Amino acid sequence: MLNLAPEFYGLMIARACTGLPNEACGLFAGEISGEEKIVKAVYCLKNTDESPEHFSMAPEEQFKAVADLRKKGLVLLGNFHSHPATPARPSEEDIRLAFDPALSYIIISLKDAEPVLKSFLIREGIAAEEPVQR
Ligand SMILES: [Zn+2]
Repeated sequence: MLNLAPEFYGLMIARACTGLPNEACGLFAGEISGEEKIVKAVYCLKNTDESPEHFSMAPEEQFKAVADLRKKGLVLLGNFHSHPATPARPSEEDIRLAFDPALSYIIISLKDAEPVLKSFLIREGIAAEEPVQR
């Protein structure tokens, strides 16, 4: 279960929209309490691919985000990116590049009028949707 407060949900959706026509991306961090991951910080990072179909997070911004979340006593919970024209599910590439089974992979689809945000856990090439509480 991922606990994503409205302010952080809104921030991710807003970032996805301002990133158009390209994919937007970032990291999020927080606390883990039993089965629940509670988001406490969102870091919007530059997509250095500047592509509507791919993303790469700017390395120097990733380092800064990780340093900041550690300073705040938070743990990295996962990353997010947008799909400007495809559904909110991991692409083959997303699954291939998902290196950490402990992380949550949020995908925001802007395919339809209403944005759709879903979170996934990806283990051994299989993506399973993770419930998101707002
Ligand atoms: Zn993707």
